[in-house]
Amino acid sequence: MIKAVYFHIPFCSHICHYCDFNKVFFKGQPVDEYLQAMEKEMKHTMEAFPTDQLDTLFVGGGTPTVLEMKQLDFFLNSIHKYFPFTVGEVEFTFEANPNELSKEKLRMLKEAGVNRLSFGVQTFNDELLQTIGRTHCEHDVIRTIEMAKEVGFTNISIDLMYGLPGQTLEQFRDTLEKAFSLDIQHISAYSLIVEPKTVFYNLMKKGKLLLPSQEEEAEMYEEAMKQMEMHGYQQYEISNYACPGFESRHNLTYWNNEEYYGIGAGAHSYVNGTRNVNAGPLKKYIQLIEQTHFPYIESHTLTLEEKMEEEMFLGLRKTEGVSKQQFAQKFHRSLHDVFAEPVATETQKGLLEETETHVRLTHRGKLLGNEVFQAFIGII
Ligand code: SF4
Repeated sequence: MIKAVYFHIPFCSHICHYCDFNKVFFKGQPVDEYLQAMEKEMKHTMEAFPTDQLDTLFVGGGTPTVLEMKQLDFFLNSIHKYFPFTVGEVEFTFEANPNELSKEKLRMLKEAGVNRLSFGVQTFNDELLQTIGRTHCEHDVIRTIEMAKEVGFTNISIDLMYGLPGQTLEQFRDTLEKAFSLDIQHISAYSLIVEPKTVFYNLMKKGKLLLPSQEEEAEMYEEAMKQMEMHGYQQYEISNYACPGFESRHNLTYWNNEEYYGIGAGAHSYVNGTRNVNAGPLKKYIQLIEQTHFPYIESHTLTLEEKMEEEMFLGLRKTEGVSKQQFAQKFHRSLHDVFAEPVATETQKGLLEETETHVRLTHRGKLLGNEVFQAFIGII
């Protein structure tokens, strides 16, 4: 039974220089038409693949909070109409930008059952915020989080980035300190990856993007791990840290290799053993919903081998690693039968280790995660 659903709202009021997500400028877009198409996708999805009770809902983007009050109301009503969940029992997350939330919007979200907010903060250095194309400043973050707390939100997460152009370790330390002073429950910290079709990619090609060295970036990661632990945030995934009990249940769905619905343009889903990708451009998405009920442009039914590989490279992202017992229960084979060779090789390199119950990354393995994940692909 599927317990998680992701909704994609692809609108932004500005475009950040590093962003390769599926998003468009909010102004001039057929937003109402898009929300109606999403409602149809919700309906068709629930009719074809029903579930009894959800455990997590996640609205991401884009910037979901860029929607106007009326649009937000329509969207939240659609969710309530088609997805079965009990307010208060689920984790219901909304992504937000720090300078795009009013008290009214926050109240509307709270009344609709949203109980977790995830803010795209990235850094508390105003100059760096400008460099990466964000329109908020440090003050906006502090004010908005205070406002969210006043409205009654008690589960707040922020995203940070390191390895930004010109960023120093000292600046990143300062950002971490400011993050801790917010007294929030969850922090994600990702390194900048320069993706094709972004402003940063074009600058890099012209030799105009000055990034910290790999060593400096690794130092920032080490610093994040150290400081988070000192401040009571447990690292439960390569880039994610939480106060006990506040781990993102939604993201754990992905890392536990469980199935989930994905609604909206460019959304991915994993349903009945098949991974689907929805059309990204809005017009194509709306058109496909009208014509075929489902906006899939790619569908792939996983083989048993692929499922086992995914169990490893997704599960190894978690600090606890991959459970040997769960692997055996899911696939009726022992993890060691299937992956004896990569486990031995990566352990020898000091990147993996085994406990009685799990196989997991070592501290050094966390720095070289992608190398370890590669070792589990295409070998069965
Ligand atoms: S990073 Fe977020 S706010 Fe910035 S353009 Fe991408 S989706 Fe929009």
